[in-house]
Amino acid sequence: MSAKRPLIAVLTGAGISTDSGIPDYRGPQGLWQRDPGAQELVTIGPYLADPRVRRRSWLMRRDAGAVGAEPNAGHLALVELERSGLPVRVLTQNVDGLHRRSGLPERKVLELHGTAQQVQCVRCRVRGPMARALERVAAGEPDPACEECGGVLKPCTVMFGEALDPVVLDQAEAIAKACDLFVAVGTLLQVYPVAALPQAALEAGARLVIVNAEPTPYDPVAHEVIREPISLALPALVRRIIAGEFTGEPVGDPGRE
Ligand SMILES: [Zn+2]
Repeated sequence: MSAKRPLIAVLTGAGISTDSGIPDYRGPQGLWQRDPGAQELVTIGPYLADPRVRRRSWLMRRDAGAVGAEPNAGHLALVELERSGLPVRVLTQNVDGLHRRSGLPERKVLELHGTAQQVQCVRCRVRGPMARALERVAAGEPDPACEECGGVLKPCTVMFGEALDPVVLDQAEAIAKACDLFVAVGTLLQVYPVAALPQAALEAGARLVIVNAEPTPYDPVAHEVIREPISLALPALVRRIIAGEFTGEPVGDPGRE
């Protein structure tokens, strides 16, 4: 292996998935702004304690359409970036599984908030597909229990009141500190500890590029802030990254890291 290659870290939030039809619960038009009561549906305490909360929660997941959603031009641009041969790591706050589904290698995607594509029993910890649980809801089980032990099923996501997986968070911090370019896409950068990642990257000397419709706290210190819609902006940004605009050298060698 020849000279060290620039490492690209891409942090993605809800904004990258809205063009795939997945609502941004936290954004300005989001469900949690319109209906603050909806937040208890994804808060671990009420979810475990109250079967009525779980029944509403399953209906919300059924209606959210996250199962069966397809990656959009933003997700595919990151696949193009990865296939350019640059070392790319995607850190995502999204639980929709669309980065994996778009064709990014699983080992290059860190799902900071877990995945809504799977469910887990809080008692015996067995996992299973979300699609199966939603089939049971559609078939008339309002609060499907674990088929193994009868325990409560929850999505494999980090709910409010739950901590992020420390191993995953450590990896994300290490990538942020090691990268040469940190791109934050479709995230308001307001929810900690994930919101601390751009700071770690900046302190380690990386450049920061932000692609988001609304202002973020990092805009004043970013190398560049892009406000255009993500599905348009990200393919254009990826072409510039591949051309070496942010890392100082074009990608001449298509070899992998
Ligand atoms: Zn169980």
